[in-house]
Amino acid sequence: MIDTHAHIDTEQFDADREEVLNRAWQSGVEAIVIPAITITRTDIAERLVDEHPWLYRAVGIHPHHAREATTALLDRVERSAEAERVVAIGEIGLDYYYDFATPAEQHQAFREQIRIAKRVGLPIIVHNRDADDDVLRIIEEEQDGTLNGVLHCFSSGLDMLRRALELGFFISFTGNITFRSWQRNDVLTEVPVGRFMLETDSPYMTPHPHRGRRNEPALVRHVAEHLASVRSTTFDDIVMTTTAAAKQLFRLMAIVAVVLVSVLTLSPSAQAAESDEDTVEYVHPYPRRIGFGGIVGPNTIVETQTLIAKGQTQPLSYEGIPAFGAAAVWEFADRWMLEIAYVFSENRKVVYDPVANPFGQQNPDRYHFLEAGVRYLFNPYSRVVFYGFFGGAASWVSRDGGPLGAPRGCVTPGIGLFINIPTSFGMFVPGGEWRLNFLLPEEERFIVMGNGERYKANISTFFSIPRFTLLYFPKW
Ligand SMILES: [Zn+2]
Ligand SMILES: [Zn+2]
Repeated sequence: MIDTHAHIDTEQFDADREEVLNRAWQSGVEAIVIPAITITRTDIAERLVDEHPWLYRAVGIHPHHAREATTALLDRVERSAEAERVVAIGEIGLDYYYDFATPAEQHQAFREQIRIAKRVGLPIIVHNRDADDDVLRIIEEEQDGTLNGVLHCFSSGLDMLRRALELGFFISFTGNITFRSWQRNDVLTEVPVGRFMLETDSPYMTPHPHRGRRNEPALVRHVAEHLASVRSTTFDDIVMTTTAAAKQLFRLMAIVAVVLVSVLTLSPSAQAAESDEDTVEYVHPYPRRIGFGGIVGPNTIVETQTLIAKGQTQPLSYEGIPAFGAAAVWEFADRWMLEIAYVFSENRKVVYDPVANPFGQQNPDRYHFLEAGVRYLFNPYSRVVFYGFFGGAASWVSRDGGPLGAPRGCVTPGIGLFINIPTSFGMFVPGGEWRLNFLLPEEERFIVMGNGERYKANISTFFSIPRFTLLYFPKW
C-alpha cells in the first residue's frame, strides 16, 4: 500500500513520529508521500526522507499561503524540486472554503507552480475545496500534454471525475469515503482501475472506525477496505492497483526492492493487523535482537620497526593476508549493539621463498584476535544502517610455528554499514566494515633484514582488517 498524501511532518506527530512510521510499515504501507504546505517549513520532511528510504516528499505552496507566494519563494520551490526524493509539486490548488488568500492570489500561485512542475518534469498534487470549476479550468488551460498530477482527497461528482480523467489526471481517496455523510459511491465505482490511489491526508480525515482521533498512515488500509467493498473486489486487488498507479504517477522505481521484501515478510502481519482493528502495536521495522555469522576480509599488517642498535626506523607492511572468523551481536538498546568477534589470520609472506624471501622463516605467523566492543547505529530503523564501532581486542601470535605468545591488548575502532534483509525465517544482515586493531604497547623482538642479518628492534604494529560480515538474526 502507498499512502500518497500524509502530513507526518506536522507538529501533531512531533511526540511519536517514529512509532507512527513503524506502525505504518508494519501494517503494509511501503511508501509515503509527504506533500508540503509551505516552502518555508520543510526541514522535518527533508530529514524524514533522508532517514527513511521509503518516504518521499513534494514541495510547493498550499493555497492557504498563496498570498506569500512571491517570486523569490516560487524560485525556491523550483530549486528545491531538484532535491533528493522530491516526487511532485504540491500541494497546490484552490481553496474557496477558507479565506486566507483571495481567489486571484490563489489562481496566480496555482498557475505559477503548475508551470514550475512542467519545467522540472514533476506531477502536481492538487488541493481543491469548493473550487471545482476554477481548478479544472486552470489545469485545462495549462495542459499542453506534459502536465500530470492527482486531485487529492477527491470529493467531487461524476462530472468532475470525467473531466479530470480526460485531462490525464489521477485522483486519490482518503478517509472521508468511509463517513456516513459520503454520498459519492458512484465516483468510487466509476473511476477506472489504474487511475485512483489511496491517501490518508494525516492527521486529518481519519477513517471510520477511528473517527475523532488523529489520522495516521497505518489507517490507510481502511480506505482500501472500503473501496474494495464498494467496488465488489478484494482488498489485495485495491492494494495492487493503487500501488501501481502511485508508482506510475510519482515514478517510485526505487521502492521496487522494498516491495519485494515486503511481499516476503509483511503480508502476514498486514493480514493480522486487519483482523485486529484497534491494537496496532509498536514493532521495530527490522527486528534484530541476537545475531551471529561469519567474517571474511583481507588483513594488512603494518609494522614500524626501529632498529635499537642503529636508531633507524623502517616501515614494513604485509598486505592481502586472508582473515576470517565469526561474530555474535546483541542489540541491547535502541541504537546500540554489543559485538564479540573472533578473527584468525595467517601471514605466509614471512615464509622462506628462494626468490621473494630467501631469508624467510620455516612457518607462517599465526594471529588470533578476540574482539569486543559496541556498535553505535546512526539510523537504526533504516534499510541501510551506518554505524561506528569502538572496542578492544586481545591478540595472540604464534611466530614461525612456535607456541602462542602472551595476549596483548589492542584499541579497536571501526566504521561500517549493514543492510537489513527481512525474510519470513529471520533477518539477514550483510555488512561491510573497516576496522583497525592498534597493538599496544610496542614490542621488542629480533627481525631478519633482507640481507639475512638479525637485529633487535622496537616494533609498533597495527592491523587493518576491512571485513565483510553476514549476520543472521533468527526470529524468536
Ligand atoms: Zn489538501
Ligand atoms: Zn493535504
